[in-house]
Amino acid sequence: MKIAVIGAGIGGMAAAYDFLSAGHEVTLLESADYVGGLAAGFKEPNWKWSVERFYHHWFQSDAAILGLIRELGWENRVLFPRPYTVMYYNGKFYPFDSIPAAILYPGLGYGINKIRFGLVGLYLRLTNNWKPLEGVTVDQWMRKWAGDKVYEEMWEPMVVGKFGERYAKEVNMAWLWARLKSRTTRLGTYQGGFQQFADDLADALRRGGAKIRLSTVIEHIEAQPDGRLALNVAGSGVEIYDRVLSTTFPAVMARMAPSLAPDYLQGLLNLKSMGAVVMVLALRHQLSEKGYYWYNLPKKAGFPFLALVEHTNYLPAENYGGDHIVYCGDYLETDHEYFRLSQEELLQRFLPALERINPNFKPDWVRKSWVWKTNYAQPVPLLNHSRNIPDLKTPIPGLYYASMSQVYPMDRGTNYAVLLARRAAKRMLTEN
Ligand SMILES: Cc1cc2nc3c(=O)[nH]c(=O)nc-3n(C[C@H](O)[C@H](O)[C@H](O)COP(=O)(O)OP(=O)(O)OC[C@H]3O[C@@H](n4cnc5c(N)ncnc54)[C@H](O)[C@@H]3O)c2cc1C
Repeated sequence: MKIAVIGAGIGGMAAAYDFLSAGHEVTLLESADYVGGLAAGFKEPNWKWSVERFYHHWFQSDAAILGLIRELGWENRVLFPRPYTVMYYNGKFYPFDSIPAAILYPGLGYGINKIRFGLVGLYLRLTNNWKPLEGVTVDQWMRKWAGDKVYEEMWEPMVVGKFGERYAKEVNMAWLWARLKSRTTRLGTYQGGFQQFADDLADALRRGGAKIRLSTVIEHIEAQPDGRLALNVAGSGVEIYDRVLSTTFPAVMARMAPSLAPDYLQGLLNLKSMGAVVMVLALRHQLSEKGYYWYNLPKKAGFPFLALVEHTNYLPAENYGGDHIVYCGDYLETDHEYFRLSQEELLQRFLPALERINPNFKPDWVRKSWVWKTNYAQPVPLLNHSRNIPDLKTPIPGLYYASMSQVYPMDRGTNYAVLLARRAAKRMLTEN
């Protein structure tokens, strides 16, 4: 068959790999001038490794993507360092990513709250029964089982940070279950960075015979009377394929395929998501003197963003020409002012927070900065969300759709992009 994949992100490329393995003719059509999608990176001329635009790592439990890497024979290119995550309490930061660290963390006191925190964590880690959890909000469930103090100290800042005041009380408990279930303290990356992984995958696809066309925007998808699919490629006209897999954002999919059945189309349009604004700083000096990697920052303590991530406390600064790489990231609705502010204005907002991490920090530590924004960063799972997930097979024969919004109940990630895209590929090759 002649198969088109719209989008050369990690998902699209994983599906293309399976189409090629099954002997089909594959074309990837990608609107950007690079592969990797949301997991793509960038590089200064003197850096050996690229830096992800949006901080990225794998968990040791990410079986789908690590499995694909093994199939490709690249497992020796994957590293799993042990970085340190800290929580804020009363003006100070405390490690919080191991059982001994949790026992020593002062935010919960040393009595019943700590026991409740431990029991709730253990239950969520052990249970596989997520379905009843989607019928209740994180806020309700946690207040009931962990208690107000534990919830407000431990989970609420993260839920408010990720989903904003608007959705924080509405997100369902299966979302938090999925995060706790699958996450590990060791975090993985690819030698050279995620962009290197995407480039290696693209090269493997090209060697296998796939065509990857960058800077190629698909505007429209239409069923043909003969059962095939017509893609309208901006600036170059119509192309015909036997099967098409689209991996774009839901709103883009809805725009591209307006002839989808009304239920499916409306389902795509009803999906809620948060955007992200992430500033990357190249600093002249290390910021966290204790070598911490990930700082969870509560908005109620006046921090202007949710997470500060010192990437070079995870990977050596030598990979980046001696620059110390720091991310300042936030999840926001797309009408938030951060989406409109210039890079300079965002710097003015963000830099004072760095002094709270290290009082010696001075703005002249910043050698260079970048700001990356995306409208689609985090799907928002509301109550009983499993009813809202669009099927991988669309009502248009031969047209399939795989996106972050469909990996539910798991939380989005490149691992699930691979899992879902390969599941879609299998169905595309077996269903009529
Ligand atoms: C802030 C942030 C942090 C994250 N952290 C992690 C992490 O730590 N670990 C992890 O594994 N994952 C993380 N993720 C999630 C991860 O990036 C995604 O789950 C994954 O990259 C999705 O891959 P995809 O191929 O499904 O989609 P995308 O990467 O979105 O790929 C879709 C592609 O389609 C292209 N496209 C769109 N419209 C068109 C069109 N009309 N024509 C042609 N092409 C088009 C896009 O340019 C894009 O390349 C994070 C994401 C964000 C935003």
